[in-house]
Amino acid sequence: MCSSIPQIVWTADAEGKITYWNKAWYNYTGLKNEEAISNTWIQFVNPQDREENIKTWEKSVETGNEFGCEHRIKRHDGVYRWHLSRAIPQKDKEGNILRWVGASTDIQEIKELEEQKDFFIGMASHELKTPITSIKGYIQILQEMYADNGDRFLNSSLNTVDKQIRTLTELITDLLDLSKIKSGALVLNKSHFKILEFAKEYISEIQRIHPLCNIIFEPSENIEIFADRERLGQVLINFLTNAVKYSPDECDVHVRIWHSENEVTFSVQDFGIGISPLDQKRIFERFYRVEGTNEKTYRGFGIGLNIAAEIIERHGGTVHVESEIGKGSILSFTIPRKS
Ligand code: ADP
Repeated sequence: MCSSIPQIVWTADAEGKITYWNKAWYNYTGLKNEEAISNTWIQFVNPQDREENIKTWEKSVETGNEFGCEHRIKRHDGVYRWHLSRAIPQKDKEGNILRWVGASTDIQEIKELEEQKDFFIGMASHELKTPITSIKGYIQILQEMYADNGDRFLNSSLNTVDKQIRTLTELITDLLDLSKIKSGALVLNKSHFKILEFAKEYISEIQRIHPLCNIIFEPSENIEIFADRERLGQVLINFLTNAVKYSPDECDVHVRIWHSENEVTFSVQDFGIGISPLDQKRIFERFYRVEGTNEKTYRGFGIGLNIAAEIIERHGGTVHVESEIGKGSILSFTIPRKS
């Protein structure tokens, strides 16, 4: 029944050994029946994707959890095309795995569209950066020129433009970072620095922008770490901005730092709207925004935390979230002191 559908369909035994391929696999690879059944499939996976593919498959066979991976598979003419492969285990009444049933779908076109989108985001954000920087410079000059002339309307207009330009700059910087991450161009520029001066600098920046918010910093021992100061600052700013943004009523934010022999942790606690357990698992994903949060009240694109998680991962660290709806959230990151 599955033999003639255009999608590649396969089965494997409980040990993960392939027992069946449908016709689409033979048509795609050019293999003959008898060649295919012995576990030759891995030779058709692009060498760059093999290790990850085997690891994921073995993990599923071992745990009995659904299998899923994206990999490039070689066609009969030698061309690799991206496929999404998924498999589910069929179990008996006792829960023992009888067999795996899997399918591989050609996603080459989707991948190409994704690449075009990433290229466009990268190019557009890069091109937007120059005019925005120039506008920002002129606004600052105008603000200085007319600071003492007493024209309240002019001054408040310039302040509004300045604020909006700041928001625009942040968005463009995030988009640029996103494309850097995608293309592997986000490199860390590490140096030795003291944590207290570092934290105070970024906290005071956010405090200045949000004077009504009460940011409490509980200083710790001023140890030195080796990391990318600016990138870590970006993560701290993201946590702090979110803490302020998602605290609609009273805005109290606590910043804490603690360390062990090898690691240091920075945490930002707010008492705002909180995040449900389901959303906690997903907020570090790209473009993920909690559904139902009023978009007008909480504007954003859902990329800040994704970039933050990427920066921390590149330091060999981890990000954490603890939260309760209506009570607030604690976002933290832990990195090696000498990453
Ligand atoms: P955004 O620009 O949308 O704020 P982020 O990547 O920074 O993007 O955050 C992703 C999502 O996680 C947000 O849209 C929000 O729903 C949720 N979130 C992040 N931080 C908090 C927080 N401190 N309290 C409540 N929700 C938060």
